[in-house]
Amino acid sequence: MSTPEQHPTPDDAAAEARTREIAAGLAAVRERIARAAREAGRADEPALVVVTKTHPAEDVVRLAGLGVAAVGENRDQEARPKAAAVAEALGDAAPRWHFIGQLQTNKAKHAVRYASVVESVDRPELAEALSRALVLRREREPGVEVPDLECLVQVDVDDRADEDRPEGIGPRGGAAPEDVPALAAAIAALPGLRLGGLMCVAPRGLDPEASFRRLAALGEELRRAHPDASTLSMGMSADLEAAVRAGATQVRIGSDVLGARPAVG
Ligand SMILES: *Cc1c(COP(=O)(O)O)cnc(C)c1O
Repeated sequence: MSTPEQHPTPDDAAAEARTREIAAGLAAVRERIARAAREAGRADEPALVVVTKTHPAEDVVRLAGLGVAAVGENRDQEARPKAAAVAEALGDAAPRWHFIGQLQTNKAKHAVRYASVVESVDRPELAEALSRALVLRREREPGVEVPDLECLVQVDVDDRADEDRPEGIGPRGGAAPEDVPALAAAIAALPGLRLGGLMCVAPRGLDPEASFRRLAALGEELRRAHPDASTLSMGMSADLEAAVRAGATQVRIGSDVLGARPAVG
C-alpha cells in the first residue's frame, strides 16, 4: 500500500486492476442472477457463493470489500491457510466459508474451525466426524460462541450406470437419492450440526435443468420431514440460469467472477 506522499508502484496498479476486474465479473454475475430470477417469475433471488479455489486470499479480501458474504472452497489444504489469512486481514468482516468439496473424515477437525457451512456431506461417517469435531471445539474453547455447523447433503443426481457416464467421469461425489432421508435424519439428530438442505453438481452430459429439477423434487420431499431444510445449492458459471429456473436458493460461481482457473483444481 502506498502512503499519500509516495507515487503508486506497479504493484499498486496491478492490485487496483485486479480489483476492477473482479468488480466487473461480480456485477455481471449479479445481473445474470437478477435477470434469471425475473425471467423465471421468481420474487426472490438465490444467494451467491463465490468459489475462490485456486485464487489467493487477496481476492477474498477484494470480494468482501465488494459485498460478498460467502465464499466456497473445495480443498482443506488450500482453504485452511487462506481462511486464516483473510481472518487476519478482516477479522469479523471476513465472509463465511462454505466447504464444497470431498472431505476426508480426518479433516473434519480442520473444517469446523473455519467453515460455517459444509455443503458436501455425502455419508454418515462424515456427519459424525463433523459433529464430534464441533462438540470438541466447543469443549476446548468454552469462552467462544461456536454456532452450529450448517450441513447440506450432496446428492448424486446422475442416474446413469458408471460405465454409461462420459469418459473420465467416475462415480460422482454425493449420496444416492434413496440414501438422502437417512443421511438427513442423521445430520438433524447429531449435536452441533444443523441440516440446511441439499446440494448437487450437474452431471456432465445430461441436461442440467433436468438434474436441478430432480434435486428440487428431493428437496420438497426433504422439507416434509425437515421444514427448515430449504436450501437448494445448485448452479455454477455454466448453468446458473438453469439452476435459477429450477428453484436454486443458492448458486456457487467461480470462474465467471474471478476468471479462468488453471486446469487443475
Ligand atoms: C469449482 C466449483 C464451483 C464453481 O465452478 P465455476 O464453473 O468456476 O463457476 C461450484 N461448485 C463446486 C462444487 C465446485 O467445485
